[in-house]
Amino acid sequence: MTVAHDIVDLHPEVSSFLARKEYSSFVNGEYLAAQTNELISVHDPYSEEPIATIAEAGEPVVDIAAQAAVRAIKEWKKVLPNQKEKALFDYATLIEAHAEELAQLLVLEHGKLFSDAKKEVSAAVNCFRYYAGWSTKIEGSTLDVSLSGGDHFAYTKREPVGVVAAIAPWNVPIMMYAWKIAPALACGCAVIFKPSEFTPLTALRLAELSTSISHFPKGLINVVTGSGIKTGQAMIHHPSVAKVTFTGSSDTGRIIGQNAAKRLKSFTLELGGKNPVLVLDDADYTKVPGGICKGIFYNQGQVCVSGSRLFLPKAKFDNTLADMAGIASSMKLGSGFGPDTKLGPVVSEDHFKKVMQYIEEGKNDNIELVTGGHKGEGKGYFVEPTIFANTENKKVSVETEEIFGPVITAMPYDDFDDLLRKANDTIYGLSASIWTSNLHKAHRLIDQIKAGIIYVNSPVRSDPNLPLGGFKQSGIGKELGRSAIDAYTEAKSVCLHYS
Ligand code: NDP
Repeated sequence: MTVAHDIVDLHPEVSSFLARKEYSSFVNGEYLAAQTNELISVHDPYSEEPIATIAEAGEPVVDIAAQAAVRAIKEWKKVLPNQKEKALFDYATLIEAHAEELAQLLVLEHGKLFSDAKKEVSAAVNCFRYYAGWSTKIEGSTLDVSLSGGDHFAYTKREPVGVVAAIAPWNVPIMMYAWKIAPALACGCAVIFKPSEFTPLTALRLAELSTSISHFPKGLINVVTGSGIKTGQAMIHHPSVAKVTFTGSSDTGRIIGQNAAKRLKSFTLELGGKNPVLVLDDADYTKVPGGICKGIFYNQGQVCVSGSRLFLPKAKFDNTLADMAGIASSMKLGSGFGPDTKLGPVVSEDHFKKVMQYIEEGKNDNIELVTGGHKGEGKGYFVEPTIFANTENKKVSVETEEIFGPVITAMPYDDFDDLLRKANDTIYGLSASIWTSNLHKAHRLIDQIKAGIIYVNSPVRSDPNLPLGGFKQSGIGKELGRSAIDAYTEAKSVCLHYS
């Protein structure tokens, strides 16, 4: 194991966890012996060195996990709602107690800033606490019916959907674990969770921790390691899996939706975005440049809701971009543990190449490069924070495709209608942020922007009580909030004829 971040003393739990070096799936409360020779390397994106290998789970391990999950659901059903609530709450508290360790592990597998990693652990803790509360609040309704003969009592009850296959991306690995597992457990489901092959370590450690929670039956949380193409597909195809929840790119989402639909399984797809930032002329321009930079450069731009298409009034265009360029060019690139680091590396060599290719395409398409546009110096998958300008109506890849890196394109607009037309001119509809001091205009935009989540005068953020999900090609269904309870339960209608 190589840990190049010599500025940090690793937590003893991190050192002992990483000393294992080879990881298999964590199923039914324990690590299974690998059933294959297929190993995948996990790299630290700062040092580019391997820090672990994971075994491809494939069909045999997914089958063991599915059987364990089926058994666990039966046991979990016997646990009273208030006991479920306590168990989820205890899990949140345990994760919180291990926050430092989990955040370090997250920096090593992902590259993000340690301060952001700690915030991510905290968000996961809040998510488990939030859904702990939902365990005691699952409800149906009583319904009037018009059936002949009268004297009918009709109601609905919500039942767990069953075994959930959860397939996650690499950008916020701990948050994804919480977003998918917390509501599923609150609803009475058991989960087979596949983290991204690039960031599997935190999920494995979280699953290890879950075994000390009393009332969690074995097999309630199973983490299977491996690739999407083998292990992910095996999860979708397994007959015991009732529901698929996927977060990732729109291209993969299309494949997953098709495969789930073929087997008539329900599915939720949280997909990509190319999210507009709409700045009006009455916005507070002392806050706009900093807010927009935060909205695109946070987590190296690897956030589905990051604001990557900026629309500015013509009169404010040059000054705002100059302010943003000043912020971007002063951001220090480095280890996530560095006290002054403002931007870490992107997650992997493949992703680094993809982001750099988009930047080269932008240059070749003769788009004005305001700042950035190069790889960072030395080792590590570093990409400079990059601003392109005046891409208007050129339909070039930097304007139309999700780059998922620290890259923003800026365009001027003429008037309100021009702004609205340009902002909605995308196949995606995940998020938008609007910057204005005029409530009337804000509401007109909120009504007409096609996006699943909209923030005003702030970059887009997440909260466990705020449903998140995309319009258009950004997804099907919602996560978080009450929406997740609906997603992990099915309504059963009951009617009693009592005369
Ligand atoms: P991918 O779509 O490449 O992968 C996501 C997950 O799906 C990974 O676990 C991957 O496995 C798996 N997978 C890949 N191919 C298949 C397949 N054929 N069958 C089953 N599973 C498969 O996305 P990234 O990991 O690159 O994540 C970035 C994307 O996620 C961006 O588009 C981003 O917008 C989106 N995202 C959306 C969010 C939302 O809430 N809408 C939130 C966060 C991210 P493997 O381990 O092999 O990669």
